[in-house]
Parts: sequence; structure tokens; C-alpha cells
Amino acid sequence: MRSTDIRSTFLDFFQERDHRVVPSSPLIPSDPTLLLANAGMNQFKPYFLGETAPEHPRSVSVQKCARTSDIENVGRTTRHATFFEMLGNFSFGDYFKAEAISWAWELLTRHYNLDPDRLWVTVYLDDDEAVRLWRRVGVPLERIQRLGMEDNYWSMGTPGPCGPSSELHYDRGPSFGREGGPAVDGERYQELWNLVFMENLRGEGTGKDEYPILGELPAKNIDTGLGLDRLAAILQGVETVCETDLLAPTFRLVQEMASREYSGEDSTSFRVVTEHSRSIAFLIADGVLPARDGRGYVLRRLMRRAVRHARKLGIEDLALPALTSSVIDTLGGTWPELTQRSDLIRQVVTAEEEAFERTLRQGSQLLNSAISRTKATISGRTAFELHDTYGFPIDLTLDAARSAGLTVDENEFAELLEAQRRRAHQAGHSRKGGAVARQDLYRTVTAEHGLTDFVGYSSTTTET
Ligand code: ATP
Ligand code: MG
Ligand code: MG
Ligand code: MG
Repeated sequence: MRSTDIRSTFLDFFQERDHRVVPSSPLIPSDPTLLLANAGMNQFKPYFLGETAPEHPRSVSVQKCARTSDIENVGRTTRHATFFEMLGNFSFGDYFKAEAISWAWELLTRHYNLDPDRLWVTVYLDDDEAVRLWRRVGVPLERIQRLGMEDNYWSMGTPGPCGPSSELHYDRGPSFGREGGPAVDGERYQELWNLVFMENLRGEGTGKDEYPILGELPAKNIDTGLGLDRLAAILQGVETVCETDLLAPTFRLVQEMASREYSGEDSTSFRVVTEHSRSIAFLIADGVLPARDGRGYVLRRLMRRAVRHARKLGIEDLALPALTSSVIDTLGGTWPELTQRSDLIRQVVTAEEEAFERTLRQGSQLLNSAISRTKATISGRTAFELHDTYGFPIDLTLDAARSAGLTVDENEFAELLEAQRRRAHQAGHSRKGGAVARQDLYRTVTAEHGLTDFVGYSSTTTET
């Protein structure tokens, strides 16, 4: 099944069950506590909180999501992407567990035709009601597992609605690892669909108890998220999202540009370059521009990581302009903002890759010599110098260290970074000339493209 059919099957199924189709919100959320949209429910938060009433109590959507926290998982696992589409159905104080569970089962087994014997279910520890409902649709007890907060209690990662969840996982078979169900961490049981029984509220807190559960929401709600990329990989019989029709043309182009085929040895680099190209295109299309902090820094990290892996594969020409253009060709039909902003995307990636190119060589030399003289741990000072002088985001250094079997003194790095932040703060946020010049360039580019909502440098969260 092609990804366009997977999307429409989902939307049709829930429309037939009285859900209204709501378009994806942009990746830049209106919620000031959130850096980037990370789930379908984000745009509905005020409904769950009871702050505003929805026009209709049931929605269905295909939401663009970005998860920076998964950046290092890309390439390391086959299931994580930094950008993905989340299919979701939502109830705002309307239906609850029984419908959510039986519809999810019906859709997966009768419309997407997944083999019911390969589906496993997890529920929150004490959720006997969910167990009973899964039993009722026909899931045998041996394939229902109870897991704790970490896996089966969903929160946004900020104050807001939350609740216990129940998840559907797909068994990819013995070639992916040992038996034992989703409770066994690994690649074999792929988490596919999360059904959240949104009934509680997390608030502001401090220290260890950062977002304590305050109590119940005004009503019981349903929020679900099914990863399009993961479902497409299963339905198209491929191992990674790069081989699905969402990314296959870009993945092929990476191989062409590298003049060699995807192979085990460099599989991480092939996947990182392919996957990040998509995130980069989508972020720029939604108005994010490279910057030293906030969302802009997320974008910059993605671009630099992609470029470094492209060079590792032997791609010496500019990689990002061609690769993002292939993403636009593949997905622009579904997401017209890609096509509308294609000139902007090309200009931004070209400028950023050229700028990074200039320091990459020198930085790589420093990094390689640090790797060759280090036995176990690269010092935080070296990592900081790479970051500060050569613009190597820390994850590039971590990546390179990991592939050489080394670690990095991340604590020392964090201390140095913090000290620098304090100094910069005292000096009134003075910036380096290069960065200022580049900012001006992006401002010009943005003005040219009529992006009125200039958000490239606004920062809600400062991260490294
Ligand atoms: P995982 O445990 O695999 O990291 P998750 O529990 O963090 O996933 P949820 O927050 O429950 O994910 O999101 C709902 C669904 O979105 C997941 O079941 C999965 O299908 C999809 N999804 C989540 N993170 C990613 C990602 N990084 N790349 C692709 N799909 C994802
Ligand atoms: Mg996750
Ligand atoms: Mg999970
Ligand atoms: Mg989950």
C-alpha cells in the first residue's frame, strides 16, 4: 500500500465514524512551552484542558512532527526519524477506551490487513479495563503486557494533559531479535500506535518532580498517534523508513551521489543523510532558519550532521540542495508548502552547507587527531573547541567518538558551554562576526520570500 493510500484509509475510516478532518498544524507550534510540534495532540491542547470548546468533539489528522530528542536514534535504530507524520484520532470528552481500542484493532487488522497474530499490546500497569477490552476484540492474554510510567504513560514533555496509554506493537519476526514481546527492548517489536487515555494534568514543578501530576482533566479524552513511516515500512515490506515510498527516491539519490550501494558498513550514514534531508526541507518550509539557538539550532544540527555523513560516504559536491529537492519532488504533492518554499529551501541549504564546508575540514582534522590519540574518553575541552571554533554540534563529536569506540566527557563539555553562555550573557549577547553576517543573509532571504513570521532566531528552549 502506497503512503498516499495509507493516509487516506486512515482519514476515511475515522470520517466514517463521525470525525472531522483537521489539517496538520505547522511545525512551529503556537504553544510557547513547545519548541517544535511533536505529536498530533499539540494543536488540540486547549480542548483537552477545557480552555476552549471544539466545534466538533471528534477529530482526525495527519500531523507533521519533529523530535529533536530522537536525533541520535536515527541510524542507530531502524524505527526513529527526526521528522515523521503522525496519524491520529481524537475525542474531546466524547468516546473513550472502548471505541478507541476496538477501532484501532479493526483498522489495523481489517483495513491495513496486518496479521493479528503479529500484533502485541501493552497497557499501563494497573489498567485492567484496557486488558479486558483488548481481550474482547480477540487479543490473547499472552500478547498483552503491562508496562510502567516510562513506556505506558504519555506526557508532552511539558506541563499539559497526560494519561495512561495502551500501545500496539508489530512483531517483525525472529530475524530482528529474540522473542518476548515489546517488554524486551529491541528492534523486533516495533511500536506502531499509541492510544492515550488523556485524563490527567501535569503542572510546573521543580527538580526531580519537574512536571507533577496535579489531578484530573475536566473530561476524559482520547488522543492517538500512529507513525505513518513505521506503518508504511511494514505494509511495503521494507526494513527502514528510507526504503518506503516516503523517502526511497532520496535514498536512491544518496547512493547515486556516493557512487555506491547502501551497505551494512555505512548504513548509518546513508540513513542519516536521507532522513535528515526530509526534516531539513520541512523545517525550512515552515519558517525555521539556521541559528545559534532554539529551533534554528535544531535545524543547523540536522544540516551539519547530514553534511558530515554525506562526506563520510564520499559525497564531495554540495549534498543538501539536490537531496532536499528530491524530498520536495516526492512529498510536495501531499505537502504543498514544500513546493511553495522550494527556492527558499535551496538558498538556505546552499548557504549553510557552503559555510559549514569551510570549517569542516579543519574541524575534522582536530577531531581525527583527538580520536587517534585518545584511548577511552575525549576531553570536554576538545569537544567544546570543536563546537565553538569549528561549529561542530556536540552530536557530531559524539557520533564520531562512538564509531571509534570512544566516549566524550559530556559533563565537562556542558560546564564549558554553560560558562560561555554566562560570559555571553554578561557581554550583552555579543555574537561572532560570521554568525551575524549569516543572520543578515537569512534575513534577506526571508524577506525575499515574504516570510513575515520571522522565527528563525526566537528561542523558547536553548539546547546544545
Ligand atoms: P518510541 O518508543 O519508538 O521512541 P514513542 O513512544 O516515543 O516511540 P509516541 O510518543 O507514543 O512514540 O508517538 C506515537 C507514535 O508515533 C509511535 O507509536 C510511533 O509510531 C510514532 N513515532 C514516535 N517517534 C517516532 C520517530 N522518532 N520516528 C518515527 N515515528 C515515530
Ligand atoms: Mg520515543
Ligand atoms: Mg515508546
Ligand atoms: Mg509511545
